[in-house]
Amino acid sequence: MRLDISGGNETSSDTAERSVFTRPTFAIRLDVDTTTCARALPKVLSFADRFGIRFTIFVNVGRSVSFRGALDRRLRPYFSSDVKAIPKKSRRLPLHKKLGLRGVCETLLVNPRLFPIARDVLLEAKSTGHEIGLHGGTNHGLWQSYAATMSDQALEALLLPALEEFTRTFGMPFGFTSPGFVVHPHAYGILRRAGCHYVSDYVSVEGRVQWTGKGGLPNIPVTLAAEGNVDYLESYVAGNSQEPLEDVVDRFLSCAAFPVYYSHPCFVAGIGADVFTRFVSLLTERAECATMGCALTMVGPPD
Ligand SMILES: [Zn+2]
Repeated sequence: MRLDISGGNETSSDTAERSVFTRPTFAIRLDVDTTTCARALPKVLSFADRFGIRFTIFVNVGRSVSFRGALDRRLRPYFSSDVKAIPKKSRRLPLHKKLGLRGVCETLLVNPRLFPIARDVLLEAKSTGHEIGLHGGTNHGLWQSYAATMSDQALEALLLPALEEFTRTFGMPFGFTSPGFVVHPHAYGILRRAGCHYVSDYVSVEGRVQWTGKGGLPNIPVTLAAEGNVDYLESYVAGNSQEPLEDVVDRFLSCAAFPVYYSHPCFVAGIGADVFTRFVSLLTERAECATMGCALTMVGPPD
């Protein structure tokens, strides 16, 4: 989508402001899922300053892992024909390559709450123009494994404490994303009443903003991801792809609506730093990076 906010009587400052948005506009969404992600945030912010861009960062305030959920997700495809395993075509990097030894040990042995690690740097990020949103409830793994089949009460127990802590720190309005793109419709009404103004809970190359059925929130899709909703550049690195990055950028920017790439700080500031740097260099030569909330203001809600 080419965003154009031109209006009626222009002043010179209107014209200057408009020129920022007459190029294609995209967003980069980063989900903070692990301690490695939380600890990588200062690097991520330095990167953004280097390129003069602002990220949309969604933080899980609770613990990364539910050990029961992780085991379940591994075993379920063998026992249930309804559950799809991640397609073999979508390569992922092994966990230790993304989290490093410290991250793996910390996650498996301690599994600490992420908010105490991430909060201060996220407050700093917000004060410099990055958008901060909420990513699930008090346990990323529990949400990813069970949210779709949870009772409303169980979902509330997972979501409400996280929502309270998040809004007390960052205020509202705010955006929300469900871990693993696993949705529970009951969440949307709660989120809207708490000051959430959009969610990003599906993947679609067309990129059209939709309404959530319950709750009536705009749902902004991720538009670039590998099969199984795997981070596209992670899959690119894991599969040692020979596709020119220029072609990936072409495809990404040719999206009919609003292009959104999603990844994780542990990847873009870690093993994926080189490819991410090249990707952002190519993008910023041709397009503007906006936060998802800002882009929503510009494009307006869905029809
Ligand atoms: Zn996540």
